[in-house]
Amino acid sequence: MSRSTTDPALASFLDVGPAHPFPIQNLPYGVFTPPDTTVPRVGVAIGDCVLDLALLNQEGLFEALPLRSTRPFAQSTLNAFLGLGAEAWAAVRERVQELLRADTEALRDNASLRERALHARSDVTLHLPVDVGDYTDFYSSKQHAINVGTMFRGAENALKDNWVHLPVGYHGRASSILPSGHDVRRPCGQTRPHDDAPPVFGPTQLLDFELETGFLVGDGNELGTPIPIDEAEEHIFGMVLVNDWSARDIQGWEYDPLGPFLGKSFATTLSPWVVPMAALEPFRTAGPAQKPEPLDYLQAEGDAAYDIALEVDLQTPAMSAPHTICRSNTRHLYWSMRQQLAHHTINGCNVRPGDLMASGTISGPTEDSYGSMLELSWRGERPLSLPGEETRSFLEDGDRVLLRGYAQGDGYRVGFGTAAGTVRPARCGGAA
Ligand code: CA
Repeated sequence: MSRSTTDPALASFLDVGPAHPFPIQNLPYGVFTPPDTTVPRVGVAIGDCVLDLALLNQEGLFEALPLRSTRPFAQSTLNAFLGLGAEAWAAVRERVQELLRADTEALRDNASLRERALHARSDVTLHLPVDVGDYTDFYSSKQHAINVGTMFRGAENALKDNWVHLPVGYHGRASSILPSGHDVRRPCGQTRPHDDAPPVFGPTQLLDFELETGFLVGDGNELGTPIPIDEAEEHIFGMVLVNDWSARDIQGWEYDPLGPFLGKSFATTLSPWVVPMAALEPFRTAGPAQKPEPLDYLQAEGDAAYDIALEVDLQTPAMSAPHTICRSNTRHLYWSMRQQLAHHTINGCNVRPGDLMASGTISGPTEDSYGSMLELSWRGERPLSLPGEETRSFLEDGDRVLLRGYAQGDGYRVGFGTAAGTVRPARCGGAA
């Protein structure tokens, strides 16, 4: 009998401890290059290993699966697999899990196959998992919207009228999406530090991170045909961690009236592993109550938030280890992913496999759960104290920011790994 793919009692023939991010209940997808080749392919993380799905498919282990005669894993991105849709994702997940189970012989007892299909994660090169065609960034944490609104417009005008009626978002920039580990160059731009003086040009003085998650669209919709909210979850493949790096001074000067532009488009860091929604199913929970009641096209039955613990670690050049500066949770998001996708397509806009929809900064109710330096230091008024008597209001050159996330199950964890990036000095005059 097949068991639920999230059964806590499932065990792999590979040894995976209870606090490990990648047990058999998780099986996140990524793109990697093994040490003995230059050809990227799709794999799944299991414990400290990566399982080569392209090889398993080539060896005939996926013969019974509805893969439509395609080669979705012999690819340098997940896009082809995402486009196959929910039925194929479920079938592949069940089969991969079966092959990794302690009581399945096919891989466990085939030393030659194991040797070729399983690689130590420390030996492989991980890549950006998807080719993101379009990137949309929402603004779905009410606490974040209130914090930022309070700082810039005062407490009485913190939330704009539209915020509680629709998931506010903007179209981001896909070309500067970076894999975890890629450096982030401090951007240069136009700012106006003093309201009574002309703008100036130079490196941003207010560089920030934003703690976000994002979901990847699977099969998309036809132009002109919205995705109804009751079907939205079938189009959502999985989730990643997102650091939406931001230059607050550039953003503050440019955003009126059309919104974020160059203050956001210089870098966005993704975690390498895409956690499938199937692995997150046990962690569904009720989101915040929505008042006023949203319009009909944004309403659906059942819980649509997820209990995923998030944290941000900062390591300055003077520190010997990262220090946690924020702990938050995706359950704080006011607007759910299905509401975001239904809203995004309600005008007929088409979405495509691999599109990235980010949540917006996820700030919780307490000061230590704020998901950006802007909020943690309250615009620089309350600099953060770090080990070694350092302080930070915004990010400095050499600072390394790591996002982490995991959902805690009964005796296992569904982890996201990390999304990391280090700030490098500005080059305002071009390449130097
Ligand atoms: Ca953002």
